[in-house]
Amino acid sequence: MVITIDGAAGVGKTTTAKKLAKKLGFRYLDTGAMYRAITYFFIQHQVDIESKDMVISSLDTLKLDVSFPIDRPTKIVLDGKDISQDIRKKVVTNQVSQVSAMKDVRKKMVKMQKEIVNNGNFVVEGRDIGTVVFPNAEHKFFLVADYNIRAERRLKDFDNINEKLDLSDIRNDLIKRDKHDKNRKLSPLKKAEDAIVIDTSSCSVDEQVESIYKYVERV
Ligand code: C5P
Repeated sequence: MVITIDGAAGVGKTTTAKKLAKKLGFRYLDTGAMYRAITYFFIQHQVDIESKDMVISSLDTLKLDVSFPIDRPTKIVLDGKDISQDIRKKVVTNQVSQVSAMKDVRKKMVKMQKEIVNNGNFVVEGRDIGTVVFPNAEHKFFLVADYNIRAERRLKDFDNINEKLDLSDIRNDLIKRDKHDKNRKLSPLKKAEDAIVIDTSSCSVDEQVESIYKYVERV
């Protein structure tokens, strides 16, 4: 069974998806981490993202290993090095929307995501999971939240990796990234028609998980 959780940054997808997966005994896949990994790889290899040829040839050399230990965050290993923390940094966050809008990048990532899930029991989070990657998923959810709450959550995430940022800068970055993700041509961030919307602005994580769990159990 596949459960999709889509939505913008900071709406609570990751915490909800991880806890829900644990409660159900499912695996959890963070597809945003995969786009971040490619962005990190392009930065490391100084790939000019304006050059289609360079992007395609560097994607051919990419050695990305995505693992999803039960009960643990998605682990991202690039060229043998665990980069799960590095991909959370601001330098990656600032460029990920441009990279994820590229056709060749999406093609490769979507193929990998389908191979990973391969009819298993998964909670998959992202932007286009219910619309494009798993349009036939049994359960689809779309999370939303107020901008200020989202910015505060992201501030804590950056704090956890020792990056000290300003709340208003984070808020502005979120607005910019949302605009980019919603307006791109390929697989934009949008709610699948049959997805259930959950507003997490004033919910605790446990409440979020419980409301999704109830929908899943009901069917
Ligand atoms: O979820 P997270 O904030 O880590 O995602 C980083 C970026 O990856 C998003 O802003 C978006 O540009 C891209 N993304 C995507 N499709 C997905 C998941 C993430 O384009 N399924």
